[in-house]
Amino acid sequence: VFQLSLPLNFLGSVYREMNQAVIDMDSLFKLEKTKSEVAERPDAKQLVLSGGSIRFDNVSFGYIPQRPILRNLSFEIPPGSRVAFVGPSGCGKSTILRLIFRFYDPTNGKIQIDGQTLDHLQLESLRKAIGVVPQDMPLFNATIFENILYGRNSASEEEVFDAARRANIHSTINMWPQKYNTQVGERGLMISGGEKQRIALARAILKRPPILFFDEGTSALDITTEQAILANIREILDEQKCTAIFIAHRLKTIMDVDIIFVLKDGQVVEQGNHWELLRKNGVYRQMWSTQETQWHEEKKEKEKEKDE
Ligand code: ATP
Repeated sequence: VFQLSLPLNFLGSVYREMNQAVIDMDSLFKLEKTKSEVAERPDAKQLVLSGGSIRFDNVSFGYIPQRPILRNLSFEIPPGSRVAFVGPSGCGKSTILRLIFRFYDPTNGKIQIDGQTLDHLQLESLRKAIGVVPQDMPLFNATIFENILYGRNSASEEEVFDAARRANIHSTINMWPQKYNTQVGERGLMISGGEKQRIALARAILKRPPILFFDEGTSALDITTEQAILANIREILDEQKCTAIFIAHRLKTIMDVDIIFVLKDGQVVEQGNHWELLRKNGVYRQMWSTQETQWHEEKKEKEKEKDE
């Protein structure tokens, strides 16, 4: 069961529907078979990577025809760059990710990776090239070791441990009575959000994909865990030289990326780095001010709690 070609279906509708932390490999497998919304062409080709650039060309898409989510969306992610998508909840950030995985096809327009249009590619070769670190990663009903190994089934034991070390989760796992043999199903509820994300990170490190997504999600990690994870991510990105795409809610976590794409009404309304966007005095600046006020208030609350 570990030979699934599409480990990431949980990011699509499956994930939203199941909405639970522990999913069974068999049910994932079944869903995968029944849920595939796109067809592979008989003459589909292998993706040939040369840096991991992504291009959206006038892409339109809606889950139902009456409700378009993306409207003539165009942008370009240069190879090896770090970029982020920001925008109000429901504006289509995760939808972009699902389209890149080809869980759906755009109704109009073209998506290309390194110059190759997605619907000309073999799905497996496309999905193999992309890793995702979602915040609420559903773990499989298997051991922790197998859950990490899933990133690259051919990896050795030492490589799995090494990936876990770099994701800052190795020593935590070793403190559990069954260590790497801990069955996720049995103690699934006792694995915290931060631990799960670090397991997802270990899996992504093992996979070494040329294109890596970080889906920050909405549920908040505590600030210390988040900072530790982000520091690890930066280090890993420096080493692996992959294209990294952040789907961000908290602007503070993506201040240092090369390009921030601001989405609104299904289009990119602003793009640039953090400082350029602040100077623009537009949508991004407004989002930043709102979040800044929130941080100050949260900080004040915390200080008040400490004093009491
Ligand atoms: P958030 O910041 O809250 O995570 P988002 O920008 O990532 O949001 P998406 O998840 O891309 O937003 O969703 C865009 C819109 O499409 C939302 O209005 C959502 O309700 C809708 N949507 C998402 N998945 C489906 C689906 N499978 N069927 C129908 N509508 C969907």
